[in-house]
Amino acid sequence: MEYYSKQISQLIAELSSLPSIGAKSAQRLAFHILHMPKDDVKRLSETILSARENVRFCKECFTLTDQNVCPICADSTRDHKTIMVVEDSRDMAAYEHIKEYKGVYHVLHGTISPMQGIGPEDIRLKELMTRLQGDVKEIIIATNSSLEGETTAMYISKLVKGTDIKVTRIASGVPVGGDLENTDEITLLRALEGRREL
Ligand code: ZN
Repeated sequence: MEYYSKQISQLIAELSSLPSIGAKSAQRLAFHILHMPKDDVKRLSETILSARENVRFCKECFTLTDQNVCPICADSTRDHKTIMVVEDSRDMAAYEHIKEYKGVYHVLHGTISPMQGIGPEDIRLKELMTRLQGDVKEIIIATNSSLEGETTAMYISKLVKGTDIKVTRIASGVPVGGDLENTDEITLLRALEGRREL
């Protein structure tokens, strides 16, 4: 990297700090950007900045959105008494993609992971408990089938036990350690339909 001038090296360093971008990809991207028309580079950087400044958490489900309440929570035709609990906004998008689920969501933004020092208070669990004090019929726990996902599912089911709310867990059609986001639609649909009560 020392072969490049300072600004080019800086650009490569910034890009390589992004997830899944190794040194080679960062160099390729950097030179691509440097060859782009200036207007395109301006639009790209403004889009990044504007998204970062305007995107916030939905007041109800805590997904990332550019409004106070996300379009799903704002939709009165959806079943607001059924809440699917997911790890992040991408998992929510994966379920929305199959167009079969008509309830709403709750985005935890992570999972309980004692190994990584992530406890229940570090994810949006308190907010979920607050929501459950409202009129809720069922919560579907759709965390990944990783150790952390299962730990989180067990934790939530214990918290909800003793209430009138039905707690279900998506079927284990999702491969162990599998990432919901990368699971195909049929598997996701089967996981949802085959959910069992905890
Ligand atoms: Zn929402």
